[in-house]
Amino acid sequence: MDDMNVPIPNGPLPEDKEKNVETSDIRFCKFCGSKIPKDAVICTSCGRQVEELKVSSSVSQPIIINNTNTNTNNNNNNTGGYVNPKNKWVALILCFFFGCLGIHKFYEGKILLGIIYLLTMGICGIGVFIDFIVLLFKPNPYY
Ligand SMILES: [Zn+2]
Repeated sequence: MDDMNVPIPNGPLPEDKEKNVETSDIRFCKFCGSKIPKDAVICTSCGRQVEELKVSSSVSQPIIINNTNTNTNNNNNNTGGYVNPKNKWVALILCFFFGCLGIHKFYEGKILLGIIYLLTMGICGIGVFIDFIVLLFKPNPYY
């Protein structure tokens, strides 16, 4: 290697310089500052462990299994929230009489929307009107 072109700095390296070096094939040991191959695990100069041993390949597999587990859990939770079928006609009547109070939204379990309807009088009646039309074309029971 040519030491004349790239001077070896004494003392701690600035992090930016290390990152730039990492893009090439050579980087500096963080302990002694000498040039070592990019993928070196142990410094060739001082013999200290520079990189953590790659255990990640064996660790990643259980993580993937965990991910699938959480995914299925999430799916179960999602379906669990909407399992109760809603009676179309009950929602229609609630929407017709109490739509401006957002009662039909509370009935559907959409508490946040219900509060919004309650505060805005069913979005000035427009939201209630749209909900009424949408409910008319929904299957019975709907979810
Ligand atoms: Zn070293």
